[in-house]
This record gives sequence, structure tokens and C-alpha cells, in this order.
Amino acid sequence: MTAAIAARYAGAEVTIFEHMPRMGKKLLLTGSGKCNISNADMDLSHFHGGDGSVIKSVLERCTHYVTRRFFEGLGLIYKDRGGYYYPYCEQASAVVDVLRFAIRDMGIEVHTDIDIRSIDTLQPIKEDSKKGFVIMTNEGRYVFDKVILCCGSSSNRNTGSDGSGYILAKKLGHSVIKPLPALTYLTCEEGFYPSIAGIRTRAGISLMLYDDDGTEELLGSEMGELQLTKRGISGIPVFNLSRLAIKAADEGKSVKARIDFLPEVMPEDMIDFLKDRFASLSGRKAEEAFIGLFAKPLGICFLKRCGINLQMLAGDMKDSDLIKLADTIKSFETFISGSGDFEAAQTVQGGVSLSEVTPNLESRIVPGLYFAGEILDVDGDCGGYNLQWAVSSGMAAGREAAG
Ligand SMILES: Cc1cc2nc3c(=O)[nH]c(=O)nc-3n(C[C@H](O)[C@H](O)[C@H](O)COP(=O)(O)OP(=O)(O)OC[C@H]3O[C@@H](n4cnc5c(N)ncnc54)[C@H](O)[C@@H]3O)c2cc1C
Repeated sequence: MTAAIAARYAGAEVTIFEHMPRMGKKLLLTGSGKCNISNADMDLSHFHGGDGSVIKSVLERCTHYVTRRFFEGLGLIYKDRGGYYYPYCEQASAVVDVLRFAIRDMGIEVHTDIDIRSIDTLQPIKEDSKKGFVIMTNEGRYVFDKVILCCGSSSNRNTGSDGSGYILAKKLGHSVIKPLPALTYLTCEEGFYPSIAGIRTRAGISLMLYDDDGTEELLGSEMGELQLTKRGISGIPVFNLSRLAIKAADEGKSVKARIDFLPEVMPEDMIDFLKDRFASLSGRKAEEAFIGLFAKPLGICFLKRCGINLQMLAGDMKDSDLIKLADTIKSFETFISGSGDFEAAQTVQGGVSLSEVTPNLESRIVPGLYFAGEILDVDGDCGGYNLQWAVSSGMAAGREAAG
């Protein structure tokens, strides 16, 4: 939708093909229906995928200031929630509506419920014959000078983002880096998760590769609100790390997470911290001694992990118990067994290879073909980065294709 509007602004005649009954279905799901549209922190480290110079070039030309002005021009005002940008009315439907109205008001032709069967380049009969593309649909044949392919990915197929864009790109000669889920939950091997499910707590999480010989390699770390589920770990920090765990598992590697449940206390201060707490609550049973600091089931989980009797008095804890507890709380190991699938993922890592597009998002293989959005090998962190990429790249491709 952004690509179409940008191309029309730049003077092109534009037609949109959408195989769903309406455009923008996935947008309605974003930010739990509120649409986290962008972020104040646009550091490039929040974007992942192939050739970083392409991502940089697009985000430098179509910055979040430019896209914010674009949306303001369409009547959509941003709300800043601690650096996370939402529509002022906090309704994702408003984002779809302002884009739809602009498309209507600018006279952009929209064909919905149309299934694109193939996209082929026009073979010029003579040297001066028209170059371009033939699009075959279930409703007939269309010819265009340029094509922008922005079919999304293969996450949440019922939104229309069903992976068919990858097939179209491949038929046009492009390579697609293996699509894998990203921004999703992780499942863990241990059996205690049902007892702590539903707890949310601030934590630091480090994801590591490990081998049977004891070697470990840090994949990445995040801090934020951890959500404990019946089957493992979730929440924004886990979402952001999930791409690394899923990629490693796909390569046959073993992954574990190390959770710091008390990031505010330095590791070297942890034993004194526990000693002071248990001294002042010396008459309480161990199972009650963490209440006020951690949710009760989580405290019990720590104690059980350390083999400490839940009924013993906090004041009777031995130094060896304190050492084990300090280590468990600061460095809680859990082994990753799986992840959410494409349906549970907010985005997809992989896609059309960035090495095959110019910084203007034109195909290096088929001149006149452009790409934008999630179909490309770009995925962003949780926090408005995927929509920022969709909008910035749509704007860049639209302007360029019209030029
Ligand atoms: C639950 C959920 C929550 C999310 N929340 C956020 C958030 O708050 N902030 C954020 O930044 N990102 C969020 N995202 C990610 C974000 O929605 C996507 O990255 C973004 O929508 C990608 O835009 P796109 O235009 O590339 O693809 P899409 O939005 O998927 O649009 C592609 C369109 O192409 C159509 N299409 C596909 N194939 C064909 C075909 N062959 N013929 C015709 N039409 C076709 C589809 O029907 C679809 O309408 C969320 C995603 C999910 C699933």
C-alpha cells in the first residue's frame, strides 16, 4: 500500500493486486490490534538479515521522520509510548483505513480477490518493442512496465501472507534465503514450566549454543519482561532472541538459555543479598521467604532446583544453600526444545536475497522488478521495526519504480 501511494505521488499509474478480499489484513493483528508502527530508536542493530548496506540505504532515505510525516499527511497522528510509536487512537484499523482512503482518493486501481498465477517478462519482438511484465491472474492477463513484489512472507497464512510471493520471486530467477519463523516463543525441555506458567518478571536472558563436550558460545542477550508459559519462555526479550535459536536449531545445533531473574543485583552481591533477606525473615519457611521478591511458585521452583526443603526456616539456610540459590537465580539454565511455528511468529527471517537487489530495491536479475517489505531477507526486532521496514522499503521501491 505504501509502495503504491509513493509510486502514484511520483506520477506513475498504479494498480494493486491483492488476493484477499481486502488489503491490510495482517496490519489489523499488529501490536495486539493497536499497531506498533515505529520506534524512536532506529539503530540498525534492530534490523537483521542479508546485506546490511541495502537495509541502511533504504532506512537512511526513508527515515522514520519521513514515514511519520507521510502518515501525518494521511491524517494519522503518532502516539509515543516510551519510544514505541502507535497511532494516536491506538487502533491498527486506523492505519489500514488511512492507507485505503489515500489509495482510493489518488485513483489507484485495486483488484482484490485476484490470484496471481505467474509474472513473466515481456519478450520484446523488435528492439524498440515495449519492455515490461505480463501478469497472469485467475481473471485474465495484465501488462505493466514495472512490478513491485510485496507479498509479505509465510507467517499467519490466513492474512494472505501465504508464501506465494517466494514462489513468484523464484520463478523470476531470484534466490530465497530459507524462510524461518522469528519473533515467537521458545519451548523448553524441563517439566516444571506448568507450575510457573503465567508469571511475568523482568529478567536478563542469554542464549547459548552448547556441545556435549561442555563448550558454549553466546548467541545473544536481551533484557526485558520475561513471560513463563506452560511449555517454556516468551515475552519481548524471548521474541527478539527466537530468530537465533530457530536458526541454530535448523542447523542442527543445541541451544540453551541462561536467565538472570534478578538483574538489579550484581552477581558478587547476590550471596550477601540473600543472607540479609533470610536473616531478616529468619522465622519464615523457605517457601515463604521469597514472597515479595518473586511470585511464590517461582521462589518454590528455585528452592526445588537447589534441593532445599521448602519447610526449613530461612534462618537455618547454610552457606552452601545460599551459593546454590544465588547461582540458580542469577544463572538459571533451561534447555530449548522448540519454538512457535510460522503461525505463531510475528515475522519471518530469510526471504528474497538482498545480494540480488540494488540499494533502490530493484532486482539485479530482472530490471524493472522491485521488492518491498517482509518478502525480502530482512526481519526486525519487536517494537515497530518490521512495519518501519515495510513502510520505508515500500516508499523507496514505489518512488524508484515510478522514476
Ligand atoms: C500477530 C502479529 C503482530 C505484529 N505486530 C507488529 C507490530 O506491532 N509492529 C511491527 O512493526 N510489526 C508487527 N508485525 C509484523 C508486520 O505485520 C509485518 O512485518 C508487515 O505486515 C509486513 O508487511 P508486508 O506489506 O511486507 O506484508 P503483509 O502485511 O503480509 O502484506 C502482504 C500482502 O500481500 C498479499 N499477497 C501475498 N501473496 C499474494 C499474491 N500471490 N497475490 C496477491 N496478493 C498477495 C497478502 O494477502 C497481503 O495482504 C506483526 C505480525 C503479526 C503476525
